[in-house]
Amino acid sequence: MTVSPTPQGLALRGDLLDFGAQPGWAALEDPAVRYRPDHWLLIGPDGRIAGVQKEEPGPEYRREDHAGKLILPGFIDTHVHCPQLDVIGSYGTELLDWLNKYTFPAECRYADPAVARAGAGHFLDALLAHGTTTAVVFPTVHKVSAEALFEAARQRGMRLIAGKVLMDRHAPDGLRDDVAQAERDCIDLIDRWHGVDRLSYAVTVRFAPTSTPAQLAMAGALCKADASLYMQTHVAENRSEVEWVAQLFPTARSYLDVYAREGLLHPRAVLAHGIWLDAQDRRTLTNTGAQVAFCPSSNLFLGSGLFDWPAARGAGFAVSVASDVGGGTSLSIQRNLLDGYKVQAMGGHRLSAWAALHAATRGAAEALQLGDEIGSFDTGLLADVCVWDWARGPVAQARHAVARELHEKVFAWMSLSDERNLVRSFVAGRSAALPTVG
Ligand SMILES: [Zn+2]
Repeated sequence: MTVSPTPQGLALRGDLLDFGAQPGWAALEDPAVRYRPDHWLLIGPDGRIAGVQKEEPGPEYRREDHAGKLILPGFIDTHVHCPQLDVIGSYGTELLDWLNKYTFPAECRYADPAVARAGAGHFLDALLAHGTTTAVVFPTVHKVSAEALFEAARQRGMRLIAGKVLMDRHAPDGLRDDVAQAERDCIDLIDRWHGVDRLSYAVTVRFAPTSTPAQLAMAGALCKADASLYMQTHVAENRSEVEWVAQLFPTARSYLDVYAREGLLHPRAVLAHGIWLDAQDRRTLTNTGAQVAFCPSSNLFLGSGLFDWPAARGAGFAVSVASDVGGGTSLSIQRNLLDGYKVQAMGGHRLSAWAALHAATRGAAEALQLGDEIGSFDTGLLADVCVWDWARGPVAQARHAVARELHEKVFAWMSLSDERNLVRSFVAGRSAALPTVG
């Protein structure tokens, strides 16, 4: 008689850090922080988190010993552009010139299915190699670019939110759709991809200037017809952009109001930037349940402005953190969090490592209504997990060695680490990627 082997789980040993709730804005000791040094994270054969324990687990788990390393939930990047890896680090422009000079030409190439497929695979592998296991992604206006992204994410077992970009004006030839065709493409993509495995569809309005009122109305109708759909767009990033929107939509109260009056703001709406908002806009975000993706490296690089995170917290809407590559200068969430710290410091505020890391993990998951799937080490969640070196190189190692308090240690890690610190990424308990850089 043969006995079939019991499916084995996976156990990861290391310093486990996640959050049980939202920490305070600046508190350096906070009960929301769950730090469990030298513990085992247990992952069942189904790829879900089975528990955390101090004792070494039995033979039903394959053991990976990462003692002395930091283990975090995989990062969630709530705003990033797949085709813009090709224009990251482009010199000398603000938003509107940057789009015309660098970004639109790069996006034109994605009409070619071969380019779209290769680009999607390259992009998702790059995310995983930076410790990002979930993303809310813009492909391009081309239906094939969204298809390629969904297909590549499905192959990798990743949680991904994306949708074909809507833009029917103020864009070059080859990057415009029209309302009827765009609607057909969205409906077809929703039918075939939304809710499949770990994929969700986002109605994706590039930004108000590149959609006619008729297209915005169509996008709003899609959202109203199915509350499980996401919506992603940009809002109030740059002052010239805000002035342009005021000219294009003279009856709207504000830039945000262009979206609000079409029904595009709802609990699954992710709006990038939100720098130039007023108090009434903030109340609207809170009342609709929409969230803002704070994109600090992009905001600094393009000279867009300084996002007021404390005002957002005061108003009560959710803020997540995003790379916005290629306006942003790195897919590394740590680098973006450090830039986020600097942006807040310019406004006279200090962002704790806890508030920052929560926003990139559990906070983003909950804001995306995915808190029952990702974002923490709660039992039953899918094991999207990353193992990190605490310190690489003599400067970071010396700094780590003298850190006394936990926040000091974690803040120094957040400030001095990047994708080179990544040891392993796991997606639903399966090893996803090794770092591509040494
Ligand atoms: Zn963007």
